[in-house]
Amino acid sequence: MTDSELFEPLIQATGEAVWELYPSGELRWWESPYRASLGLDTMFAVGHLSALIERLHPGDADRVRARQRAGWETPGEVWTDEYRVRRDDGSYGVIVANGSVLGDDGVSTRMVGTIRDVTAEREAERRMRLAVNYTDALFQSLPGALYHVGPDLVMVRWNDAFGEITGYSDEELGQMPVTEFYAPEHRSKVAAAIDEVFATGYSQVSADFLCKDGRRLPYFFTGRRFTHAGKLGYVGIGLSMAEQVTLQQRLQHEATHDALTGLANRTLLYQELAAAIDAAWTGGHLVALLDLDLDRFKVVNDGFGHPFGDVVLQAVAHRLRTLVCLEDTVVRMGGDEFYILVPRVHRVHDVHEMAQRLVDSFAEPFLVEGRLIHLTGSVGISFYPRDGRTGTELIDNADMAMYYAKAAGRSAYRVFAPAMAETAQRRTEMEIDLRTAAAEGQLWLAFQPKVDLSHGTISGCEALLRWDHPEHGSISPVDFIPVAEDSGLILPIGEWVLENACRQARAWLDAGLPPVILAVNISAAQLFQRDPVAWVVSTLERTGFPAELLELELTESQLAQDVEKAIDVVRRLRELGIKVAIDDFGTGYSSLEYLRRFDVTSLKIDRSFVDGMLSEPGDAAIVRATIALAHAFGLSVIAEGVETEEQQRVLGELQCHVIQGYLVGKPMPAEEFAGLLEGA
Ligand code: C2E
Ligand code: CA
Ligand code: CA
Repeated sequence: MTDSELFEPLIQATGEAVWELYPSGELRWWESPYRASLGLDTMFAVGHLSALIERLHPGDADRVRARQRAGWETPGEVWTDEYRVRRDDGSYGVIVANGSVLGDDGVSTRMVGTIRDVTAEREAERRMRLAVNYTDALFQSLPGALYHVGPDLVMVRWNDAFGEITGYSDEELGQMPVTEFYAPEHRSKVAAAIDEVFATGYSQVSADFLCKDGRRLPYFFTGRRFTHAGKLGYVGIGLSMAEQVTLQQRLQHEATHDALTGLANRTLLYQELAAAIDAAWTGGHLVALLDLDLDRFKVVNDGFGHPFGDVVLQAVAHRLRTLVCLEDTVVRMGGDEFYILVPRVHRVHDVHEMAQRLVDSFAEPFLVEGRLIHLTGSVGISFYPRDGRTGTELIDNADMAMYYAKAAGRSAYRVFAPAMAETAQRRTEMEIDLRTAAAEGQLWLAFQPKVDLSHGTISGCEALLRWDHPEHGSISPVDFIPVAEDSGLILPIGEWVLENACRQARAWLDAGLPPVILAVNISAAQLFQRDPVAWVVSTLERTGFPAELLELELTESQLAQDVEKAIDVVRRLRELGIKVAIDDFGTGYSSLEYLRRFDVTSLKIDRSFVDGMLSEPGDAAIVRATIALAHAFGLSVIAEGVETEEQQRVLGELQCHVIQGYLVGKPMPAEEFAGLLEGA
């Protein structure tokens, strides 16, 4: 049988091409049905092994050479290998070749083998492998239990998480009917959901996974109809409800709570208020809203910095939480403003008690980063339905009551009263009237004498502003100065005061009266205006009043608003010979540090301490301490609001230098004071 007789049918039957290789490297080819598809036409034209090797992928050429060498040495052994062959268009096809050396009587004469084009097969395999890997990765990486369930309701495929969650092995998972994965009481709704998938293409259901160890885990399952290999089934994912719920809860919590203190925020307050009002409307009970504002918190913030202030607020929040009932909501509205919502008031008296408890709780200082911080709080209360029918009304009115508590000397609580709203209205009217008060000659200055205790003579006076309103009569500065401060009117009014006080005092000097020190009150806005020193200097120049006779009264809380700036302003005023007194000493954030850093000339003991010094040991202690402090720092000390001989006597014993008060003279018109000076 000739070679061709042998090979031709073989080629036709197997679809493979046959080749023969001779030791010289010469190649002979037999026809192949694949030659065109492989682009092997030129390959078949190749008549030598080296030319063939040239057409192979560089990475495969060495293997062909090695195979070829080894083949000649091991006749009869059949080898198979896979090579990439460059096609005529430059791309590579894949062939599987096998071969064996035929030995004629033990002499290796030629190597015979076949090649088969597997390009399409390999490509299909590669695609499938890619697809499979991709699906696999997804299957494993999705957050939850993934499943592909066949028509028999047994899983075809699942991810590792499925087994990890349920505790079943892969063998078990591959055999169990899917309904068995669920808690018995949920099986019927799961079965209904499965029916729905097959009927409509999609469904979802929440049910408990029943784990192998009996644990139940709430999950949310989805299913989508899926046909695979001609079989109808569904695929889906089970997500842990616990995780969903925590995530949901976290987002919800962040949206409704204050990040700094963890208390409820404005959004939640409005929600809870609306709910409380709803319930109260049907239930017929009262709702109370308490507005708590820290007094002079700004002083802490400005004095120690905002990060420190934040920690203080956290401490306050913590304390507030311990003072309310479980069903009450504590809210931080922003800044140093807190609200407490009492959704169901049993007795109005309870709310009063709570307010008092809140106010009293501040008696205990806050220990923050090793510092004792003394704060006070003022509380305003409004009740539904009496003081407002909507949340906004209740908030506004609690707020207004809170301002009344502050005005009442702070550290107090007030319940809203309709008159307060009227007062707010009056405040607005007051502001309008105040704008024109100076121009219309309604403002005037009263002067109150200050007496030097060692000589018994008048050493100075304090200029105090008076407003005679054409309709309302005399309005107290306690009422209109805050309005002027809030509205910014304090700047023009303050200019008017200093100018007129200096002009008046200059006139006394010109009239030959003994020189006395003129004290003028300065508000924070004036102290921190663009160039307070230039303003004072120009006023002195205009009026011809000597700087050495001028004393400016500043309060501690004012100085604390911007300590560095205040230090600078005080220093520059002092360089000009102007005196600076700290007014209301002891009521603000009394810090020895201030005394050291501020170059002030005197301390004014607040009227409230002088008032209580004979009856209250605490007040007496503050008076004594302030006088001692002044002596220690070389400052002059003045007691204000001295009304009785007894107070004067005790103050004299304590070596208080100067007193001011009704005992020695009420604030009086300029002429009257001049008369007093003349008589002295
Ligand atoms: P202040 O600076 O602490 O002034 C002392 C206040 O105590 C004055 O009230 C004075 O009349 C009052 N007073 C003095 N001696 C006695 C006394 O023996 N017994 C009693 N019960 N009271 C006494 P006034 O004049 O009503 O002023 C109140 C506040 O208004 C002042 O407190 C001050 O803070 C502010 N004020 C007054 N005039 C001005 C001003 O021109 N500019 C600024 N910025 N504030 C002013
Ligand atoms: Ca004063
Ligand atoms: Ca005072």
